[in-house]
Amino acid sequence: MSVWDFLELSEELAKSDKRYLLSNQDVEGGRVKFRTQERLRLLQDLLNHHNGNGAGNLSVARIEAREIVTEEFSAKIGFDRKAWEASLVGIKGPNQKGIYQGQCPSCAARGGDTGHDHLAYTSDAIWCHAKCSFFDIIAGYYKEANR
Ligand SMILES: [Zn+2]
Repeated sequence: MSVWDFLELSEELAKSDKRYLLSNQDVEGGRVKFRTQERLRLLQDLLNHHNGNGAGNLSVARIEAREIVTEEFSAKIGFDRKAWEASLVGIKGPNQKGIYQGQCPSCAARGGDTGHDHLAYTSDAIWCHAKCSFFDIIAGYYKEANR
C-alpha cells in the first residue's frame, strides 16, 4: 500500500506500539510492503483495528495477550505449565520483550503451523497468532473439570 495509506491506517496504533511506526516498515519506492508471514499478520491486525474489531486503542500486543495466566489461575485449573512447556515444539526466545515463540499445539493437531511460529507466550500470557483458544492451546495439561 502507499506510504500515505499506511500512515492513515496506522496513526492510532503507532502511538502505543512502535512496530507500526513508519521507520519500522519495509518501504520501497513509496510503498509499504508486506512480504513475510509476520508482516502479513501486522497488516491483518492493522486492518482489523481500522475496521473496528472491538480493539479500541489497545496495542496489538495487548489484544493478543488476552489470556493472562497468573499462578493463581494456573492452580485453579490445574494447569501443569512445566509439563506443557516441556511438550512444546520449536521454541525460540525469549526476545527483548520476554516473548517465546514456537509451534502452537492446537494448530499442529490440525496439521498446521509447520513454520513453528503461531504460539507465543511470556511468563504471564499465552496466545496463538491464528487465534486458537487458550484451552485448546493447553489441551491435555489442565483439569478440564476445573475450567
Ligand atoms: Zn494455534
